[in-house]
Amino acid sequence: MSGNTLPPKERMKIPRQAMPEQEADLRRHTFTEVNQGLTVLGATTEALRCLECAKPVCMTGCPVGVKIRDFVELITAGDYLGAASKIREDNVLPAITGRVCPQETQCEGCCILGKKFEPLGVGYLERFVADYEREQGRIGLPEIAPPTGKRVAIIGSGPAGLSAAGDLVRWGHAVTVFEALHEIGGVLLYGIPEFRLPKEIVRHEVNALGQMGVEFQTNVVVGKTVTIDELMTEDGYDAVLVATGAGLPKFMDIPGEHLSGVYSANEFLTRVNLMHANDFPKYDEPVFDCRGQDIAVIGGGNTAMDAVRTAARLGARTSTLIYRRTEAEMPARVEEVRHAKQEGIDLLTLANPVAFLGDDEGRLTAVRCIRMELGAPDDSGRRSPVPIAGSEFELPVAMAVVALGTGANPLVQSSTPDMATNRKGYIAADPETLRTSKRGVFAAGDIVTGGATVILAMAAGRTAAASIRDYLDTGRWDGEPPSPA
Ligand SMILES: Cc1cc2nc3c(=O)[nH]c(=O)nc-3n(C[C@H](O)[C@H](O)[C@H](O)COP(=O)(O)OP(=O)(O)OC[C@H]3O[C@@H](n4cnc5c(N)ncnc54)[C@H](O)[C@@H]3O)c2cc1C
Repeated sequence: MSGNTLPPKERMKIPRQAMPEQEADLRRHTFTEVNQGLTVLGATTEALRCLECAKPVCMTGCPVGVKIRDFVELITAGDYLGAASKIREDNVLPAITGRVCPQETQCEGCCILGKKFEPLGVGYLERFVADYEREQGRIGLPEIAPPTGKRVAIIGSGPAGLSAAGDLVRWGHAVTVFEALHEIGGVLLYGIPEFRLPKEIVRHEVNALGQMGVEFQTNVVVGKTVTIDELMTEDGYDAVLVATGAGLPKFMDIPGEHLSGVYSANEFLTRVNLMHANDFPKYDEPVFDCRGQDIAVIGGGNTAMDAVRTAARLGARTSTLIYRRTEAEMPARVEEVRHAKQEGIDLLTLANPVAFLGDDEGRLTAVRCIRMELGAPDDSGRRSPVPIAGSEFELPVAMAVVALGTGANPLVQSSTPDMATNRKGYIAADPETLRTSKRGVFAAGDIVTGGATVILAMAAGRTAAASIRDYLDTGRWDGEPPSPA
């Protein structure tokens, strides 16, 4: 029941509530979260802006189909816990997606209000109720069906694996998640920094899944510690979901990439996010000592933005983002770019490194770049960057981070030869059912699509879970006749 009695005209007059943010001058020195979350008053006011459309088109923009109008109505009725439970029916990680989803191109991009005014702050509201629920210590866990006796192994504990685990365990299947690293969460833990997504929140959401009955096994590298065949034949799993992500860094293949001081974004971010290198020597993992140094990050996506903002927080004197197109083409979220600029990050656009230069001891001293201009649109529809002959210049830096995207880690594929992969090494899966070519094995998330988003990985996890349920119920695999009743 909605508590919103305002006529639509009045609703439209309410301005979108701003997200309270930590001051840029303060936050550039700390890893505490930049966005502070709406207050109860802010969230209730924002919820009152919702037009409660008969056909809520916002939902069509949400890859997991969160019942947005329903949960917003519960907020206006003052039932924040009810609102959180409503979201959890479709999304097991609301405190995370409320923070990291590119809402501007999804739910909020479809909001009718956005045609004339600012769209409803769906992400802000999702985050608010999930945080409220956590702070109250009352996570609204869904009901769990009686045990089916079927067992599912999930490989990888990123958003794809976790969302599939949430659905499967709810339906009564026994679920074990195998993770190569020593902590659960995938990119949510080792990639996205604390100042955007506090790790305590990831751990809390993972705990909720544990309470629902999901079993987690860390430090298990499938393909080495155990293979998919062993899981199915020796350990008796009835189905397997591969959700191993796309965590293999790409390098530039230019001279000097081996120099000390050149990092992949994966390594740089893992050291800080997962291994607490920002607290060295309290924690024993070191990272490049950025204090007082000039550093550069190469790339224009979320990863590049996270790396450059992390380096700034580690005390870099100057932090420069080198991107070969212009700011308008940057794939990173607009909010991240804005925050980065506020924090003093320099954007060096229309430039591309051609070599890393070092001293006699093999330490990086500079990046040699070439200026670019935009030419004709390429396959991606974006204007392609073209080098301007003779325009090379050098940027002195002590550390450089390469953040040019990632590829598929081949380990699981190479140890499962009867599971087909595509040209780029990603797992070939039927787009509707997410079945692979190997009976009983499904795949979801970045390991199928290549690097995408948290919510798309979660949506794929749910699709795979539904398909696994169907397989476990019917025993049917492609092309086979239904088994006799
Ligand atoms: C730095 C960074 C910032 C990002 N920011 C955003 C953002 O703001 N918003 C957004 O929507 N998306 C963002 N993304 C993208 C998003 O995080 C990914 O699309 C998403 O995490 C993919 O989920 P996944 O479950 O497929 O894989 P992952 O999250 O990559 O998880 C895969 C897991 O599988 C494990 N694994 C791999 N191989 C094995 C094996 N052989 N055995 C056992 N375990 C294995 C890995 O250790 C990992 O924990 C970002 C990505 C990065 C790298």
